[in-house]
Amino acid sequence: MKTLLDQHKRIHNYLRISLTEKCNLRCTYCMPSNGVPHMPASHLMSAEEIFQISSHFVSRGVDKIRLTGGEPTVRKDFDQIIESLSSLKIKLALTTNGLTIHRHIDNLKMANINVINMSIDTLDRDKFKKITLRDRFIQLQKNIELLEVEGFKINFNVVLLKGINDNEIIPFIELVKNRNWQVRFIEFMPFDGNNWDRSRAVTLEEILKEVGKYYGKGIIERLNDEPNDTAKNYKISEHKGSFAIISTVSNPFCDSCNRIRLTADGKLKNCLFSSSEYDLLTPFRSGDSIENIIDIALKNKYLSRGGLEDPNQFNNPDNHKDNRSMIAIGG
Ligand code: SAM
Repeated sequence: MKTLLDQHKRIHNYLRISLTEKCNLRCTYCMPSNGVPHMPASHLMSAEEIFQISSHFVSRGVDKIRLTGGEPTVRKDFDQIIESLSSLKIKLALTTNGLTIHRHIDNLKMANINVINMSIDTLDRDKFKKITLRDRFIQLQKNIELLEVEGFKINFNVVLLKGINDNEIIPFIELVKNRNWQVRFIEFMPFDGNNWDRSRAVTLEEILKEVGKYYGKGIIERLNDEPNDTAKNYKISEHKGSFAIISTVSNPFCDSCNRIRLTADGKLKNCLFSSSEYDLLTPFRSGDSIENIIDIALKNKYLSRGGLEDPNQFNNPDNHKDNRSMIAIGG
């Protein structure tokens, strides 16, 4: 079968699947304040449909699948999904807020998921409650300890927001100082209903300045990035752990994009920022081929940021209102 090549000669071998739009947190930068309407279960891909559609992508060269959401672990059939996907010839990965991860340790091990991308925006319980609107920090702390004891590697995802958690850059770097873990600072991105404003985002330059001020510029090592890596990777010389900066807005990395996304209701998105969606689930359920639809989605993929190539266009929140909110896309 044809590989997943777009018009800009980018091969797509990385599929991100959102398992659900539901989440046990309410992060204000992610979920619109009026919530997202939940779809009836029949509109969502079943575990078997996720497996079958994923298998199609694998036959076309996908070799990495990341499960995300919403919060992927809140799906009742989460263990069944990872068990079936682990039989495919792929690297299977997970992005989670970690709150219910303690229920899935054995299955994660069985599925060979030994690195967990975990979202945590603050190390302060009160602030955690303010950001997520839920008082779950203690549970999260326990689960981080459990993952460490169980031998998992953690990549922490931290969305930095000015005046909220931008004073925690150093505490997060210190958290991974003696562990072979990573903290990744993610630039706040605009989506429908999240009140994005450039002045609330923290840029790569601002992060490096803060780190340089604390540790001294000379001991920040720039590490080699993996091919197709969205992050710029760094390390403080004597630290075991590393840090990375994902600055989608101020330093986009579209040239090497190898990603496509499947929403929980089976719509293919060729870019996080594109409002175009391509329904795979309806034809799949009718027994029709999804191959051509995937080809069209790839053919229509813009070179950069869903067609919002001019930074001024990208910065205008109106240009994101036809896109889903992050919680409904799957970050
Ligand atoms: N519930 C899981 C979690 O918390 O990791 C997976 C879904 S969540 C949408 C995936 C990632 O997207 C999280 O790291 C979250 O912080 C990030 N995210 C959500 N909204 C964002 C935004 N507006 N800008 C940047 N990152 C965002």
